[in-house]
Formats: sequence, C-alpha cells, structure tokens
Amino acid sequence: MFVGHYSVAFACRTERNEIPLWVLFVAVQFLDYIWATLVLLGIEKLRVIKGFTAGSMLDSYFHPYSHSLVTAVIWSVVAAFVYKTVCSRHDCHYSKSVPLMIGLAVFSHWILDLVAHPRDLAIYDNTWKVGFGLWNYRDPEFALEIALLAGGIALYLTRNAMPTIRKGAVIAFGTALVIVQIGDTYVPRTALTDTATVTGVWVFYTLFVLIAFAVEKIGVRTKSNTP
Ligand SMILES: [Zn+2]
Repeated sequence: MFVGHYSVAFACRTERNEIPLWVLFVAVQFLDYIWATLVLLGIEKLRVIKGFTAGSMLDSYFHPYSHSLVTAVIWSVVAAFVYKTVCSRHDCHYSKSVPLMIGLAVFSHWILDLVAHPRDLAIYDNTWKVGFGLWNYRDPEFALEIALLAGGIALYLTRNAMPTIRKGAVIAFGTALVIVQIGDTYVPRTALTDTATVTGVWVFYTLFVLIAFAVEKIGVRTKSNTP
C-alpha cells in the first residue's frame, strides 16, 4: 500500500479534533519511517526484485521491528503518548480522544499493509507471517489505493470548512498523489538498491508531509490580515 495510507490521514482530520493534516501524514506512514530508517541502519532487511509481485518490487523479508503486529501496536501507543506529551507541553488545544486517534492512524498502516503485502508481515518477531497479497493483482490493488484516497479526500473536504482556493489545492494535491501512484504501479523501471529505495521513501514521504503542512496554510494569512 502506498498513497492509500493517506486516505486515513485525510479522513481523520476534522474541525473538532483540529489535528494538523501534516501530523496525520507522519502518523499514517510512521511504521514506514521506522522501517526505512532501520533498513538504512542495516537492522531490517529488504530485497528489491523486479517483478517480485505485480504491483511492487519490495521483498521485505525481515522487518520485525517496524512491521510485526506486536511492534505496530507498540509504535501506535508510543506515537499517541508522544503526541499527548508534546501537546500538553506546548499548551495546544486538543480533545481527549486525539491521542487515541493518532494511535489508530499509526496502526491503520499495518491493517492496509496487511491487505496489500504478500505474506511478509509477522505477528511477532519474524514468525507467523501474514498478508493478503493484493499486490499480486496490479489493477485491483491500484483501484483500491485510488478509491481509498478519493474517499478520504471527500471526507476531508466535507468535514472541514475552508476557502475555495484551499479546496482547489487539496484536490490538486490528491491528483498529484494519484499520478505518483500511477508512476509507482505502472511505469516500468529498473530495481533500485535497498538503500536508494528507502532513501526515496524518506524523501517522498517527507515531501508529502511538507505539502500537507503548506496546503493547510493556504488562505489562513488572508484571514488574519482582515481587520
Ligand atoms: Zn509499510
């Protein structure tokens, strides 16, 4: 699963909980940030094999610390706790359910990965591996990514009042994510090294976080300038 993860970020953000979209963009990919970092450190292992599955070249044969069910739950609790602590220290407004929502956003990553991945997700440590393997079916997997993303964006737009210009920016951002997914699923390319792949993960995911941050600033300045 790739851009489909962001559907959860868009869907979780409401006017009531006021969780910044960029924070949710980090949350839904938190497990992959840990994974990419651990692969760079040589602790988790990845093979990039052309044609490994129809929709992905990633053979994540050893990623027990970022992607086992047990550690996914632990990372979700850690993320919820960190958000709660940071919010309390900075005195920002948040309702009681917000840390729980952050935790669920982090955990949603594992559930969506479970649908797409071949049987490479361990229940604990590196054993009892599960995965429904939708990546073996390229078109249905692509359709699910796009349907999820579109649904998430539709919820975001209906549940958050915003100026038209920002609405346009959100739709443009969503379109860009669709194009990125088309490139990832359908454009043939040579297999990169494991290090280059996870470096790309860090770069692209962080770029999306920055865009999510920028999008929610659109129209804000104009409002505050109004006397
Ligand atoms: Zn993942």
